[in-house]
Amino acid sequence: MKLVPQSLTCPVCAGTFTSSLVTDFEIGEKESDFCPRYLDGNPLPQMVHFCPECGYTGFQPDFKPIADAERLAAVRRIVASFGFVKGAVPSGPERFRRAAVLAVYLGKSNAEVANLYLQATWCSRLDGEPEDAERRARKKAVEYLEKALEEDEFTDSDKPVVLYLVGELCRRLGRPTEALLAFAKMDNYEKIEDWLAEWRERQRELIREDRDDEA
Ligand SMILES: [Zn+2]
Repeated sequence: MKLVPQSLTCPVCAGTFTSSLVTDFEIGEKESDFCPRYLDGNPLPQMVHFCPECGYTGFQPDFKPIADAERLAAVRRIVASFGFVKGAVPSGPERFRRAAVLAVYLGKSNAEVANLYLQATWCSRLDGEPEDAERRARKKAVEYLEKALEEDEFTDSDKPVVLYLVGELCRRLGRPTEALLAFAKMDNYEKIEDWLAEWRERQRELIREDRDDEA
């Protein structure tokens, strides 16, 4: 993992601070919910920056002025609700969760909010947080992925992989009926790549095994 210092200006308090940008990292395999297995350290926490003065949190492009006064007021309110203490260093997963909440008020798409919650679950697992924190973020990821699908935020070529992810997250949440429904909906699209069809089959098999155990 390679880090380079980067100066950022906070859109909430106008403070300037130096953070680290991740410029390089290595990924081995991915888990069934696409959580990467990083080969040279988990770079996720460093990808989300936080203002050491007020606690505003986001990706590098989120550190730009917020022109809309109403939006800025809403973002200020949310940042204040974090109860940030100057000098505190939020954990990796906490950074993603805060960035996800802020993304809603920054007017980001449901898909982007979902992605932040998904990354929060990965970070949570890699950090060894108690499982309920990971579950809560996973529920949010499903909620926002479903909204994004309803509002047609994905292209048809991306939808099979999004539906797979919804299915897999539901499976991990212990919601097998919803998982199978999402997996089945993938067939509404012409092109499911071979690797994705294989991954779906593997996860369907796990659901069948669970059901056999219960029977
Ligand atoms: Zn700030």
